[in-house]
Amino acid sequence: MSIRRTFTLITLIAVALAFSCIGLQISAAEPTMHDVRPGYGVTRIGWLSDYHAPLKATPVDTRVYYLESEVPGPTLFILGGTHSNEIAGIMSATLFVERAVATAGRIIVVPYANPSGASYPDTLHPQIGFYTITTKSGPRTFRYGDRRTNPEHQGPDPDQYIHYPTGVAFDGNEARNLDRAHPGKADGTLTQQLAYAYHRLLIDEEVDVAFDLHEAGVTSRLANMVIANPKNLDYAVIAIVDLELQGIVMNVEHSDDQFPGLSHREWGDHTQAAAYLIETPNPGQTPGITDPDVVNDPVNPLARRVATHLAAIDAVLAAHEMVDGQRTKYTGLPSYDDLIKFGLGEYLR
Ligand SMILES: [Zn+2]
Repeated sequence: MSIRRTFTLITLIAVALAFSCIGLQISAAEPTMHDVRPGYGVTRIGWLSDYHAPLKATPVDTRVYYLESEVPGPTLFILGGTHSNEIAGIMSATLFVERAVATAGRIIVVPYANPSGASYPDTLHPQIGFYTITTKSGPRTFRYGDRRTNPEHQGPDPDQYIHYPTGVAFDGNEARNLDRAHPGKADGTLTQQLAYAYHRLLIDEEVDVAFDLHEAGVTSRLANMVIANPKNLDYAVIAIVDLELQGIVMNVEHSDDQFPGLSHREWGDHTQAAAYLIETPNPGQTPGITDPDVVNDPVNPLARRVATHLAAIDAVLAAHEMVDGQRTKYTGLPSYDDLIKFGLGEYLR
């Protein structure tokens, strides 16, 4: 080998090493971790990147908790934090991880669906930043994040966001909205890949019933709503009647045919899972309320919103048991009345 060729080779190796170091620096942007304290029901903890390896060590990788029983039965999937300011969903999923014990079938829980959205304050009410709940083990503080992926993680928004695979166009900032990205794209943007990982999870784990937990402004049409994929709408209707008999008033509707990218639509259409989305009323998302108390609001306290999520999940599963003859069963979660009476802090670990 000539001296010149050797020199060129050394230069190339040096350049390659430099680039690999740059690559390492970028991929070392790890996900923000949040305070979730697994209870006795958790049999295994994994990462979302187990379902889509390119997400490993990116800001959207997140913890997946498995609560497996010894008794055969359906697989239930609970997703909180699709939108990181919709904290009743995050707290409901957190209660599953901290308190629930599966007694038939198994439960897969992700409390922070988009940790990138939970890595920065809500753009509508940045003053909130964090919220604190007093528990028996002391005050616990949680991020009140934004509804979209952090722009620092995904880069600038396009003028228009084109949903994959339908080609429907949205405002450019919706490119960072996980709930406009389903069923996702394996080689797409960070948010599209995040959606794709959930699509893989649902298929690989053969999930039977899936819930995506959200909140909406207190005056929104969506507040206190169960939205169901058309294929599993009947179960939601039965659940609404059941809830009303318990004194919990909710509305029901099916996925909009013209509006792609939402979890209940795409999970239900592209996987075997019955897909539901639940919305509770959050004063922090209400236009006109400038200084909301997202935990202790007198009309819609966080404990009541979480109790509503838990009651709606149970009612839908009861409808599945009535029609299909089986459901995922679990113990350990507070009743609707107890959660409102004693507060969330009583049940967080
Ligand atoms: Zn939402």
